[in-house]
Amino acid sequence: MKILGVDIGGTAIKIGLADDHGNLASFREYSYNSKLGGKHLVEKLIQFIAENPSFDRIGISTAGQVNVEDGSILYANDNIPRYTGTKLKEILEREFQVPVLVENDANAAAIGEGYFGGGKPYDDFLCLTFGTGIGGAIVLNSQIYRGYNGIAAEFGHMITHPQGNPCNCGRSGCYETYASTTALVRKAAEIDKELTNGKAIFQAIDQGDTRLEPLLDDWVTEVSLGLTSLIHIFNPSAIIIGGGIMEQEKLVDMVDKKVKELIMESYSDVQIIRAVLGNKAGVLGAASLHRN
Ligand SMILES: [Zn+2]
Repeated sequence: MKILGVDIGGTAIKIGLADDHGNLASFREYSYNSKLGGKHLVEKLIQFIAENPSFDRIGISTAGQVNVEDGSILYANDNIPRYTGTKLKEILEREFQVPVLVENDANAAAIGEGYFGGGKPYDDFLCLTFGTGIGGAIVLNSQIYRGYNGIAAEFGHMITHPQGNPCNCGRSGCYETYASTTALVRKAAEIDKELTNGKAIFQAIDQGDTRLEPLLDDWVTEVSLGLTSLIHIFNPSAIIIGGGIMEQEKLVDMVDKKVKELIMESYSDVQIIRAVLGNKAGVLGAASLHRN
C-alpha cells in the first residue's frame, strides 16, 4: 500500500510517500505562511498533496489538538490562527477520495519512533519534542494514551514555576516557558543578540564562549526537572527526546546525567534516548496511522 504521510508544522508542511515498512519513496518539505491562518493552510495543503504521485491512503500529523474520531482540529493556538474547528479529514477525503486519518504531531512522532525508531524495543515510553514549545506523547502497552478527551500529554504546560513566566496558553510558569528551545534562545539572545537558534548557541560554546555555559546548564536543569516528574509519574522504560536541538549529542548526555542526579534511585534504569527519525518522524508516524 502507498501511504502519503503529511506533517503540518508551524512553518512547513512535509510530505513523504511511504510503504508499509516505513520506507520513503519520496520526501519533500514545502514552506507556507502559517500566520495567514487555517483556510490558507488547507488551500496550500491540497495544492501540495496534489503534486504527489498516486497514493491509497493519507495520514496527517498536525500541530494542534486533534479529535482523532472525526479528524478535526479541536484547538490550535495563534501559531496557526483560525485553524481550530477545521474538519481536515472530511475536507481531504472529499478532495482526494481516499481514507484519511489525522493525529496530533507529538503523538504521530511517537508512533513513528515506536514503529521505526528509538522506541522499537519498548512498550512503555514517553516522547518529548523540544522546539518552539514542548510536545509530548505517552505510549503505554504500545498504544498512545489519549486521556478522557483525547488530549493527554500536554507536558509543555506542566507548571514547574508557580507565578513564573507567562505562557501563550494563558497561564504562567509552564514547563515550556523554561525548557523549550525558544526559552534557551531567549536567554542566549540577552547575552548576544546574534544567537537566534540552538545551532548558533552550540557553535558559540564550541568556539569557547564561556558566558553561555552556565546558561546551558540552567536550561538542562529545567529540561531535567520536568523529565524527573514524568519519570516519577509514569515509570517508563524510556524517554525519547527530540526536536532539532537534541541533535547535539552532548546535550542528550547532559540531560541523562542531570536526570539521573535528580530522580529517585529506584527509577534509575530509565533510558534517556534521542529521537532518531529527526525531521521524518512526523511523516513516518502519520503514514503509520493506517496500520491499526
Ligand atoms: Zn502553558
